[in-house]
Amino acid sequence: MNPIGSPQRPLLVAIIGSGPSGFYAAEALLKQKALAVRVDMFDRLPTPYGLVRGGVAPDHQKIKNVILVYERIASSPEFRFFGNVKLGRALQAEDLRRRYDQIVYAVGNESDRRLGIPGEDLQGSRSATAFVGWYNGHPDYREESFDLSQEAAAVVGIGNVAMDVTRVLAQDPEKLKGTDIADYAWEALRRSRVRTVYLLGRRGPAQAAYSPAEIHEIGALEAADLVVDPTEAELDELSKSLLSDPEGKKNVEYVQAKAKLGDGTKPRKVRLRFCVSPVEVIGEGGRVKALRIEKNVLVPDGRGGVKARGTGQTEVLPVGLIFRSVGYRGTPIPGVPFDEKGGRIPNRDGRVLGPEGLLAGEYVVGWAKRGPTGLIGTNRPDSVATVKAMLEDATAGRFLSGSGDPDPEALPALLKGRGARFVTFADWKLLDRLEVERGARGGKIREKFTRVAEMLAAVSEDASVSG
Ligand code: NAP
Repeated sequence: MNPIGSPQRPLLVAIIGSGPSGFYAAEALLKQKALAVRVDMFDRLPTPYGLVRGGVAPDHQKIKNVILVYERIASSPEFRFFGNVKLGRALQAEDLRRRYDQIVYAVGNESDRRLGIPGEDLQGSRSATAFVGWYNGHPDYREESFDLSQEAAAVVGIGNVAMDVTRVLAQDPEKLKGTDIADYAWEALRRSRVRTVYLLGRRGPAQAAYSPAEIHEIGALEAADLVVDPTEAELDELSKSLLSDPEGKKNVEYVQAKAKLGDGTKPRKVRLRFCVSPVEVIGEGGRVKALRIEKNVLVPDGRGGVKARGTGQTEVLPVGLIFRSVGYRGTPIPGVPFDEKGGRIPNRDGRVLGPEGLLAGEYVVGWAKRGPTGLIGTNRPDSVATVKAMLEDATAGRFLSGSGDPDPEALPALLKGRGARFVTFADWKLLDRLEVERGARGGKIREKFTRVAEMLAAVSEDASVSG
């Protein structure tokens, strides 16, 4: 019998998820020369690229150039894409365990953290995840709507997602016109009456989670002033003593300089607040009318950092819309271990950990492995590290317990047999071309298909399978 990893019997790997971490895992597997490998990548959507397509803001097109790298990886003859296949529906984890030697979960974090305060579910109190998905034309959020007739909005959290949401809300919509923003979102933003966005950080300027480049972008908006209260821009003694990293210093200097400029004269305002936490969403008639915030002080967190502690002193912000942007979390996949508390797939250096120890042949990469931190590029070394563990295990003969099925037709036949209609990479390239053509007609980079049914209809003539 040919050994697994030989040209006659390549190592068969299933990657679940086609965002950056999945593609970097595929790249590392296909680049190495020690073993022959075949990669099948699955995505629940007909379209690949995860947050690069559905998360990166429309005015950050350059970031999306990483897609060129992913296209090159996908062009390998040893790579196949199965879009519109959701693990836990037409395909079960057990199906993969029987047919592959190794599985990599690259499923990211599809849900978001909550604030846990009264009134959080009132109409008008939303997650940044939903807003981002909506303006990016993600099918999950296609039917959402946001009441942009409100004059003031609050964004809770000051990470880079909060910066994206704030920029989209506060900038002149004309700046987004030619981008790949969903057409319905651009129309809604054009009619938006939001003029003030409160950006709420629970800790101080030295602990802000945004990158210097992102806060500079907000500060450089043509249509909005970035307004900082001088007293909140000042550092407390504890933060002063701990401030050492260059990014933190840059952030502090920047907001302190902005704090000297006052309110400015631009028609819109981004009011960046520090050391405040939302404590209650105040409603009227079932919808958001205001947000009560509490002033915090910073105290040692016992791990060498600082945490916020409420002072009891509160203030009410008159906002009609609230976006919580306090981090993502993972969602469980049926039949795959999940750590409810951490919102991740439990693992030891990328090897999946079940209740009775490591699961041979199962791995995890990206946010599903380490939580929702880091930029797109952070995923490359992270995936390389998991692939290293996979190759070590393969060399040591540690695989999934099924025998693997090297027949390339086995998986497509299984999906067809279950009536699942999958999308190949060639189908996606057709969709891609159609989106670019639709965009060109409206003077845009691309006009996305935003409903799965539309996507499937568009490729139906070329689709390899119908179900
Ligand atoms: P993040 O960077 O972890 O920021 C989360 C923010 O929420 C922090 O300010 C955090 O404050 C705050 N927060 C958490 N719990 C809170 C609570 N209960 N009440 C009030 N505030 C709370 O997360 P993210 O913005 O979702 O971004 C996720 C990752 O994607 C990050 O690594 C980010 O850099 C990356 N990303 C990058 C870009 C870009 O490069 N353009 C764009 C989008 C996202 P504390 O610091 O006090 O915990």
